[in-house]
Amino acid sequence: MTHPEQQRRAYLEAIGIDVWLPRDADEPLDDVGTEPPRTGTAVSSGEWNDLRACVAGCTRCALSQSRTNTVFGVGSPEADWMIIGEAPGAEEDRQGEPFVGRAGKMLDQMLFAIGESRDSVFIANILKCRPPNNRDPKPDEAAACREYLNSQIALVRPKIILAVGRIAAQNLLGTDDPVGRMRGRSYDLDGIPLVVTYHPAYLLRSPSQKQKSWSDLCLAAKLAAEVGA
Ligand code: URA
Repeated sequence: MTHPEQQRRAYLEAIGIDVWLPRDADEPLDDVGTEPPRTGTAVSSGEWNDLRACVAGCTRCALSQSRTNTVFGVGSPEADWMIIGEAPGAEEDRQGEPFVGRAGKMLDQMLFAIGESRDSVFIANILKCRPPNNRDPKPDEAAACREYLNSQIALVRPKIILAVGRIAAQNLLGTDDPVGRMRGRSYDLDGIPLVVTYHPAYLLRSPSQKQKSWSDLCLAAKLAAEVGA
């Protein structure tokens, strides 16, 4: 299996980010073992800021022409939990922050229920730019944006990923399955446990599904606790 550090460097190099190394990091990558402790591997603010700058200036797809702001993500780059949604909506595009509308309030409540908050987790989307009229992301848009998300995952190295909604789950797992079939179990995304649940906007429309979403959150919390989150 690829070492997480090798993967991190590969993702960053692929989008043209200089990989920052600590002054004494002269250890060859082949010799670094298979599972380094997370301690001491804090995200370098240089890499994080470089990635942020790459996203802010991105022109990889046509959405760059219609956006007001890119939406990089919000929260802690050291988070144990990473929440991945679909794409910015109108308000997110205006404010440059994910999940700020009614769905965002619902997501905040879901996080509160598991003892987390917008600041303690990291929240990102499949797309960093808003699709016009909130249409579904096109495959080429999701593909163009994927390296940014992969780099975020590689830098944060969360202990658990929660994919909220069909678009996030299908893109992350490379499947066409509906959420109803994907939820309620754990997947492995490059060594990180991933749980699928309903999108908060869907829960606003279908409150009867909240119970299922709660059991998905409990499953994610259990998996996170098992790996020391
Ligand atoms: N829905 C999403 O999936 N992401 C956002 O940022 C806002 C709404």
